[in-house]
Amino acid sequence: MPRLALLATGGTIAGTGDPQHYQAAVLDADTLFASVPALREIADWHIEQIFQLDSRDLQPGHWLQLAERISALQADPGIDGIVITHGTDTLEETAFALHLLLPLGKPVVLTAAMRPSDAPDADGPGNLLQAARVAATPAAAAHGVVVVASAHIIAGADLIKAHTSRVDALRCRAGSEPIGHVATEHINIRPALARSLRHALPWSTLGILPRVDILYGCAGVSADLPGLCATAGAQGLVLALSGHGSIPEAWRSGLQTLMEQGIAVVRATRITEGGVGNNCNEEDEIFGSLPAGILSPQQARVLLILALAANPRGDLRSLFRLAGGASPY
Ligand code: ASP
Repeated sequence: MPRLALLATGGTIAGTGDPQHYQAAVLDADTLFASVPALREIADWHIEQIFQLDSRDLQPGHWLQLAERISALQADPGIDGIVITHGTDTLEETAFALHLLLPLGKPVVLTAAMRPSDAPDADGPGNLLQAARVAATPAAAAHGVVVVASAHIIAGADLIKAHTSRVDALRCRAGSEPIGHVATEHINIRPALARSLRHALPWSTLGILPRVDILYGCAGVSADLPGLCATAGAQGLVLALSGHGSIPEAWRSGLQTLMEQGIAVVRATRITEGGVGNNCNEEDEIFGSLPAGILSPQQARVLLILALAANPRGDLRSLFRLAGGASPY
């Protein structure tokens, strides 16, 4: 039997209660594990509660805490794969951070649920069982961090939460496909391709994680927002802009001043498909801001936090080109 580790972090998969009394992160790791007896038929287990949170309250420091613990388990010859239970709300950020932070090694599988553990239609037990089966499949390791939900196996860098309430809320970003699926009798994982998005940043060399804020672009943006964020301590700003990521006039001079002071500004878009390309918005390029490529605003923020922590004076432009790819626009 393979030996797997279960790291529990909270979320609805460990939550209880009907909609009026719902609470995330209630069941502890041992209780969660015991609620799915079939897990014992797949592997021998090491169980651990690493933290116990509703994922809306996770901090960037939790990404490092997880990366550090997962790295240690990957280095342990007695462990063949790692399953992490997590809330769905910020799962895409944790999945992308771990994708950036962890070198390829043993399978690392995140899973979650949209219904609490005691709901009549709870999806957590099935997702946890399927995640365990994927973690016990060595071929999963070649893809880096993956997410298993509703029988889909999704690369960590491609994950989005696409619905606020449906059970199948966890999906692939537009333009990408799951790397495989969990069938009743077998796991179907396609061979790993070289993924340009993969860019490991060793977690152990990171300094203090800086504050990076996301500003949402809309008709009539408030001109003072960038300056307020900077005054509050932001070292980077990600703009979730309208359209193809062009900066509204009201923000331009303020952002120019902040960039001259060394604050990094990344242009992402609030539109789900198309991204912000490298060659468009020449005005904004000259102006010094960086295009996020296909990264969502929240992914761009994860990358900017980790990149600034790793090397505050590093070449952010090529990092974003590498991670964000060319926009198909
Ligand atoms: N609020 C919960 C969380 O993200 C939602 C979930 O797990 O689906 O922890």
